[in-house]
Amino acid sequence: MDRERLYRTEGIVLKRSDFGEADRLLVVFTPGFGKLRLLAKGVRKVPSRKAGHVELFMRSQLLVARGRNLDIVTQAEALDAYAGLRDTLVRATYAYYFAELVDAFMEEGEENEAVYRLLALALERLAAGDEPRLLARFFEMKLLGCVGYRPELQRCVACGAPHAPSQVFFSPGEGGMRCSACGEAAPGVLAVSLGAFKVLRYLQSQEYGSISGLRLRAATAREVEQVLHRYLTFTLERNLKAAAFLDLVQHTGERDPATKLDATVPTE
Ligand SMILES: [Zn+2]
Repeated sequence: MDRERLYRTEGIVLKRSDFGEADRLLVVFTPGFGKLRLLAKGVRKVPSRKAGHVELFMRSQLLVARGRNLDIVTQAEALDAYAGLRDTLVRATYAYYFAELVDAFMEEGEENEAVYRLLALALERLAAGDEPRLLARFFEMKLLGCVGYRPELQRCVACGAPHAPSQVFFSPGEGGMRCSACGEAAPGVLAVSLGAFKVLRYLQSQEYGSISGLRLRAATAREVEQVLHRYLTFTLERNLKAAAFLDLVQHTGERDPATKLDATVPTE
């Protein structure tokens, strides 16, 4: 095969679907080429040398050949299988949610290495058994920042004054918090307690290592989740019209995401 037609990349499998008799169509997110649609030939045949290396959510090293319509995976080697993700339905559900979020925010071929590193970290920590809800809030906050929707949490988005330690109001359309004076009577805003506001700021400014030990009160955790989901819904609705996906965002807000998402979790 012509050498120029081959390229190497690592990538995380975001999605896959059956293609023809024995092939699979993969949506793979890569650090250098962004999101790619790749064909993995023969992986549904037994035996297949590639099959175990291009499973869902796996991080793999790939050798890809450029094709006329679709590029083709010619070799694959798993770098991290994140085996723990497949142990429980809850973890699999969150993995699916992270992959869907990345898929929804990234255009094909749009490179974003920060998002790639964030996704790899989230899958790794999820597989290791970290508390998934807190990890999900961290993931959502950082992802919003990486794709250009960093919520403004330092100054009031209406009057510009630095926030005092008090209740604030989240305004999705303005991408941040209004102070109590500007938020009180504003339409379409969400009241946020000081406790939840502090957690949101902490999620935005800290690395995961400082976050993972946090223990939130149930009411605070719910508020934080509400703000992030309200904002994700707003940004995705405006940009993508991904109706099925929004449904997923809303369902992860319910008490037990696993039971609600049963039907959408891919089966192996
Ligand atoms: Zn204000």
